[in-house]
Amino acid sequence: MRDTIATVESFVITIPRDTPYLGALRPGEEANARGYFVRKGNRTVYPAFDRNVLVRLRTRHGVIGWGETYGIVAPRATMAIIDDLLADFVIGTDPFDATATHDRLYDLMRVRGYTGGYYLDALAAIDIALWDIAAQIAGRPLCKLLGGQRRETIPAYLSGLPKPSRPARAMMAAEWQAKGFNAFKFAAPVADDGVEREIETLRETLGPKARIACDMHWAQSAAGARMLIQQMEPHGLWFAEAPVNPEDLDGLAEVAASVSTPIAAGEEWRTAFDAQARLARRACAILQPEMGHKGVTEFMRIAGLAQVHHCEMIPHATIGIGIFLAASLHASAAAAAVTAHEFQHSIVVPNARYLDGAIACEGGEYSLPPGAGLGVRPSAAALAILEQ
Ligand code: MG
Repeated sequence: MRDTIATVESFVITIPRDTPYLGALRPGEEANARGYFVRKGNRTVYPAFDRNVLVRLRTRHGVIGWGETYGIVAPRATMAIIDDLLADFVIGTDPFDATATHDRLYDLMRVRGYTGGYYLDALAAIDIALWDIAAQIAGRPLCKLLGGQRRETIPAYLSGLPKPSRPARAMMAAEWQAKGFNAFKFAAPVADDGVEREIETLRETLGPKARIACDMHWAQSAAGARMLIQQMEPHGLWFAEAPVNPEDLDGLAEVAASVSTPIAAGEEWRTAFDAQARLARRACAILQPEMGHKGVTEFMRIAGLAQVHHCEMIPHATIGIGIFLAASLHASAAAAAVTAHEFQHSIVVPNARYLDGAIACEGGEYSLPPGAGLGVRPSAAALAILEQ
């Protein structure tokens, strides 16, 4: 029986953290009255807590689907777009028309310059919820609606080593290596002694077979990035992520052409158009779409581009309660180009209490949440702290 969307609601969820994302604040990094601080290493603002926007869609027959996007700063901007604009254009639609609905919502604002940012974050959350409902109605895990399940598990790499010193970060990586993880990524903005010393210490600690990548957080010029990557290469660099400003497409291509390390990019993109602009320049070899910024529809489009351009896809995963991570895992199980997936242990593990349905990441492998749809939903602990 045909079912259609009846209600759209948005919420903000704020979760305190003992240690801010990427580790304790450095000298000169102080949270302001709203809890925001700027990482000196990349000049980017972060909150001292976790905060996301959730969307709840309900059908006329009572099926509930959840979506999630970023609420790192100004979450109510995203919520206003959902509540004031998108909701009325989603109500009455068939959840099985998720891709068509996505494109229709995208078209609403494209001529006004809203081809990125908060507008597409809002759209991503709705898109995830529509796909969740469609898969629940079909009675199948979401990956089965995305072209089929290619893999039972997804290799995970451990991302972020939020400790205050280089030896402590290496020790943390070694603890996870003992649990079966053998792929790691460190963050250049908090590599206090420089990226070369950081990878040297990690290599000494983790041994020759460990994969070690560096997230350069968009902070370098093309020439500066090339120099740093060449310094790290003798220590065995798996990939170099986000070496230059996101706006510097030619610089990204220049770096990719001048080093032997694969260049990775994509967490900040919103659409397949963003991916295509880089792929046309052969500016990256590894695509890192973030489900929370793109939604299922755009994520799978980027996956298709990765496949036809013979690139790897290693999706990004960061701050959230796990709704968009579950969607990312389902899409990753269905996408041919996926070879690994980021695992933000310092977020997924403590925030697991806010999720019903398990996201398991053990022995270096993710497994999909079982059940129909996404297989996850906010727990009672999460519902208790949602704010409208
Ligand atoms: Mg990154």
